[in-house]
Amino acid sequence: MSGEQPTQFLDMAVERLQTVGPKRAAALQQVGVSTIGDLFYYVPRRYLDRSVVTPIKNLKLGQETTIVARVVNFGMKKGRRNRFVLVVSDDGASLLSCVWFVKFNYLQKMFKIGEWIALSGKISYYGDYQMTHPEFDRLGEEGEGEFLNTGKIIPVYPSTEKLAKAGLDSRGVRRLLTSLIKSYKDKIEETLPPELIGRLSLLPLAEAIEQVHFPTDFGVLRRATERLKFDELFFLELMIAFRKRMFSDSQGGIVFKKVGVRIKSLIDDLPFELTEAQKKVLHEIHADMKSTRPMNRLLQGDVGSGKTLVALITMLIAIENGFQAALMAPTEILAEQHYITIHALLESMGLNTVLLVGGQSKSLRERLLAEIASGEAHIVIGTHALIQEGVEFYNLGLVVIDEQHRFGVMQRALLRSKGLNPDVLVMTATPIPRTLSMTVYGDLDVSVLNELPAGRKPIKTFWRPDSKRSRIYSFVRERVAKGAQAYIVFPLVEESEKIDLKAATDSYEKMRKTFFANFSLGLIHGRMKGEEKERIMAAFKKGEIRLLVSTTVIEVGVDVPEATIMVIEHAERFGLTQLHQLRGRVGRGSKQSYCILIAYGKVGKESKMRLDTLEATTDGFKIAEVDLQLRGPGEFFGTRQHGLPDLRFADLTKDGKLLLQARKEAFDLAQSDPQLLNEQTLGTRHYFIRNYRDKYDLAWVG
Ligand code: ADP
Ligand code: MG
Repeated sequence: MSGEQPTQFLDMAVERLQTVGPKRAAALQQVGVSTIGDLFYYVPRRYLDRSVVTPIKNLKLGQETTIVARVVNFGMKKGRRNRFVLVVSDDGASLLSCVWFVKFNYLQKMFKIGEWIALSGKISYYGDYQMTHPEFDRLGEEGEGEFLNTGKIIPVYPSTEKLAKAGLDSRGVRRLLTSLIKSYKDKIEETLPPELIGRLSLLPLAEAIEQVHFPTDFGVLRRATERLKFDELFFLELMIAFRKRMFSDSQGGIVFKKVGVRIKSLIDDLPFELTEAQKKVLHEIHADMKSTRPMNRLLQGDVGSGKTLVALITMLIAIENGFQAALMAPTEILAEQHYITIHALLESMGLNTVLLVGGQSKSLRERLLAEIASGEAHIVIGTHALIQEGVEFYNLGLVVIDEQHRFGVMQRALLRSKGLNPDVLVMTATPIPRTLSMTVYGDLDVSVLNELPAGRKPIKTFWRPDSKRSRIYSFVRERVAKGAQAYIVFPLVEESEKIDLKAATDSYEKMRKTFFANFSLGLIHGRMKGEEKERIMAAFKKGEIRLLVSTTVIEVGVDVPEATIMVIEHAERFGLTQLHQLRGRVGRGSKQSYCILIAYGKVGKESKMRLDTLEATTDGFKIAEVDLQLRGPGEFFGTRQHGLPDLRFADLTKDGKLLLQARKEAFDLAQSDPQLLNEQTLGTRHYFIRNYRDKYDLAWVG
């Protein structure tokens, strides 16, 4: 085995190790370890430091404590509640009882008298000191002598029942890794160029891996962890750098030269001035469009910052140069609304805007497809329907994707493939913290609308318990009587769509008869036919409907400036970003707007944090930061649908500085050695191909 090439060795199944049989291999497989390389990266979940171990005689009530002690006795005790009791001592005289009320069978087989264990938990007092349900690790009969006596740091590994049964509890894993590292440490191939390691004073990989498992002290452990984080971020950014290079190297983009009279007259006819931010962004976009490389740009702007207008002007540039433009939105309501706005603005210019969504009649669909294929349709607005087979464009030159976070990489690529190297503009209202946008959107150029149109008043936001519901609705009634329009939103939780829908419908009926008996009320939800939704939205926009009861179908994009009141029922069930989006449906004109969040039942800690945050700020960036912290990047952004790997070591919310450094190095390397063929980068190449190539390819389908 030791004669193998390093990479081959790391790729071998764990079963090739003498100490790992089929049973262990199966258990390891379950925790994501299938190769020897994976095993090296199966890192401890925490460490026991001898220096912070408290002697039993010094225990203090109420404190989280770690002790290391020998098993004196154990067994079941009967009582009001049966319990399993373990008695331990670290000096032969002081005793501590540990108590469990569950898992009796498992625990009774777990311990041996005289064996050393480490226990962590809170100290309580019931006639004597005790720990209830402590975490524990068995250290063996000699207490893993060496560890305990020399005061080393003891790694504690994550384990599962299956692993434990195969002899791989934390202690078993520790043994396995001790021998693995002892025998095969030299097989760990360095993944970074030596020059880089030297310049940034990083630990060499093999040393970092050894130290992560068996740290000599906490200082080295920190450096070792940092090295693993750096690797992770470096390779992620390297993948992004390659993606981006591929794009910017391609010269086959359309050159949109003209900016003609239509754009000027559109801007002149607007009832307002473009904001400075809109002007700046349009400048950036136009520069992209004029150049020979295809635009691949992200337009990021908080709710209400005026992205639609930017998209419209961008589409006009394409049209004035003789190309078609497509705008894809994530929901029918949004697509319809874009259609209404844009159609109205462009019709007088003799431009033909069409709407393509699911559920249209066959004859209408056929007519639309014919117009799109012949070039009669200048602007095509739609939902996922746009990327279906059978939709052929005459000459698609520009693709705009609204609310991009609802679409995956694949869908972006599919729409792009409907044209010949079209320019791409993706828009998002989910303000993305910088660290995250550098990864999720690392291959795009970014423009930011960092300014709201003048005269907007910050929305006043309150959250209230459901006991205040009738008072809230009195307030709404008062306002609506004075001429305001309001949304009342009910959550739609996917698992129980029917039930939720019923809740919304029932509440609507009730409201119609009670609270709002004298007002014109409308109901809109996702199960309705497109035409019906369109009719209701139009009536709301015209002011014929004063109160719109809705499920979250109105979440993104809907724009009715006269609506100034947003009530969100069961606000405790919504995510933070979603609440921010919903709230963004009001506050779109110059009048004072209100958002009232009604929370039901006992509000948990996280829900309270979300509601408090919303009350405290309307700044989308601040809200996104909190959301990211609450949910973690994977959840927050659905990184997987963007074809990005999960991060195991680095944390994008905390490791921003390291990310910047890794990004710079990765981009430099992609520049200087794009094929990774340099002798210095051979290890980098191996690692990239082994771990990142699939994901890299994914971005390039289409
Ligand atoms: P979002 O960025 O959320 O998509 P919209 O494009 O829907 O925002 O714009 C929100 C509202 O602001 C719309 O009613 C739009 O007409 C209006 N608007 C856009 N640009 C300006 C501007 N420069 N000045 C005033 N109002 C504007
Ligand atoms: Mg929008």
